[in-house]
Amino acid sequence: MRECLEIALRESGLKKEEIFRTFLPFPDFRLSLEIGSACGFSKSQVHSNKLLNLTGWTGYVHPFLEFVYSIETEDMEEKFVLLAGSGGGFSACILKVKRNAKSSITKGINDCFKRRFEIKDLTILYKITGDLKYEKVKPFSPIPLHYREIEECIKLKGQRCSKCGAIQYPWRYLCYKCESTDFELIPLSRKGKIYTFTRDYLNPVPIQPLTMAVVELEGGGRFYGQMTDVHPQDVRIGMDVSLTLRRLHEGGDFINYFWKIIPCY
Ligand SMILES: [Zn+2]
Repeated sequence: MRECLEIALRESGLKKEEIFRTFLPFPDFRLSLEIGSACGFSKSQVHSNKLLNLTGWTGYVHPFLEFVYSIETEDMEEKFVLLAGSGGGFSACILKVKRNAKSSITKGINDCFKRRFEIKDLTILYKITGDLKYEKVKPFSPIPLHYREIEECIKLKGQRCSKCGAIQYPWRYLCYKCESTDFELIPLSRKGKIYTFTRDYLNPVPIQPLTMAVVELEGGGRFYGQMTDVHPQDVRIGMDVSLTLRRLHEGGDFINYFWKIIPCY
């Protein structure tokens, strides 16, 4: 580990004193401090993992989350930081925080905190963490199909009818208004309002019921999908929502992503 940090410093041409902060991959600050000082960094240079009390240890990504949170909460602009990660081995990188970095973060850690909601039932938490086994949906999910549908499902493009201008999603063979077969593809907005919704009590997801909603998208088109990051009883027709790319299921033994609907804050 020490060797890895020293290689990173040597490659950057910087001295240890020029590093404003080191983000080390340990959940215990005392351990970070011990290893930081063994590598020649002072106490003030070792980051104290301020997020730990708020999020718990998030694994390999934790030093990176601490880094983003520090940019949001401290004055770090124009300063050099060292980030280290450990998994199958040990890796480190040195970054310079840009001027205006703080103001350029649009969806940071503070934004995530605004979105968080309380889970009152412990069994829900155990289902999410995997400690409580429950039946999961594992649909048939071939990779070639994903590849063919990337424009529609991942890039979120809708069809605009060349004849009447109607926008539709998901894709169909005929325009739902004029039955034309001539379309152009357009990127759909990721913001809109709930047009209608229903509660699905049969889908075996950790938080039941699952809210399925139709969103009237800004600029046209409707999107039908799962809602997340919201208590089912808080969903209202007309509420402002946005679409976010999330893990959908693990059919085909790989993680399948699709757009989900979340409230706007
Ligand atoms: Zn049409």
